[in-house]
Amino acid sequence: MAERILTGIKPTGQLTLGNYIGVLKNLKETTSRGESFIFIADLHALTLPIEPEVLRQNSINLACIYLAAGMNREKAVLFLQSEVSAHAELNAIMQNYLYMGELSRMTQFKDKSAKMKENAIGLGLFAYPVLMACDIVLYNATTIPVGEDQIQHVELTRDLVKRFNNRYGDLLQMPKYEVRKVGARIMSLSDPTVKMSKSDPKGDIFLLDDLAVVRKKIMSAVTDMGCEVKYDEENKPGISNLLTIYAALKGVSIEEAEKTFEGSRYGDFKKAVADVACEELGAFQERYHYFLDNKIYEEVLREGAKKANEESQKVLKKVKQAVGLLTVN
Ligand code: ATP
Ligand code: MG
Repeated sequence: MAERILTGIKPTGQLTLGNYIGVLKNLKETTSRGESFIFIADLHALTLPIEPEVLRQNSINLACIYLAAGMNREKAVLFLQSEVSAHAELNAIMQNYLYMGELSRMTQFKDKSAKMKENAIGLGLFAYPVLMACDIVLYNATTIPVGEDQIQHVELTRDLVKRFNNRYGDLLQMPKYEVRKVGARIMSLSDPTVKMSKSDPKGDIFLLDDLAVVRKKIMSAVTDMGCEVKYDEENKPGISNLLTIYAALKGVSIEEAEKTFEGSRYGDFKKAVADVACEELGAFQERYHYFLDNKIYEEVLREGAKKANEESQKVLKKVKQAVGLLTVN
């Protein structure tokens, strides 16, 4: 079977350089390799409290961000998850095939619920990986480009596919994750021991930040003792993170980046990282505003929902039949 790509991002906040390096920078290439389904995971965004107007605006911004990242518009379908009802319908079925034990082992759930009172943790946050598995299998996706933090969820989807296919016959496509060699986990600039996340106040570099702010954030990024620009995650997490950012944006290996900065001082190194980031984000922001100002996302999303609805119904129908749901028309 030809490659089918599926990727989604939650419209929970301003996208970060982590989201960009982890998935968006490669979007042009990945969506040119095969048919692609790209979605705005707005149902997933409801798993933690969010203001309605903020969610709506974030969804528009994210659509324009996907377009600005250069998704292949010939081969890729862009849509809002909530506009394709098969996701919620399949979720109602699949929640019976994933178990409490395995869901409670998911690190994303543990991380996100760690500081919450049990009474405030929505069921949706716990069941997040069930819906994500549905997002994936509905489109017979073969390849799921993600950052490192999402590998566990794709693995769980694979377990579900195996379980379901064993019971009902070879019905669901087995997916595999794809992570970037360099940049699968970008860390916060103000605390390089935690992941850069859009819903974290420490989120750091946002794609739509003013370029002067981007530069300032990089120049004041937390670095480490010593003065050598060397990759050493354990002893030099700050410098290692900046090296990763530089290498990912430049499209070079970590070793090549290290060589470039051999003998450089931290300040000069940071300036070079800021230069690459500003160059890349400047061009990106121009494209973003073009898609936003001309409201190009509206037609793209409308068309995308139509195609995604058509496509997802095929798998949904097969699953309903397989599990024994009666249809009378
Ligand atoms: P949230 O805080 O709402 O979870 P997030 O920044 O983690 O936001 P997601 O919507 O959860 O973003 O994830 C979107 C995609 O970006 C996923 O594929 C995820 O693996 C990837 N991603 C998220 N953060 C990073 C990061 N720091 N480095 C690389 N990839 C990342
Ligand atoms: Mg996340």
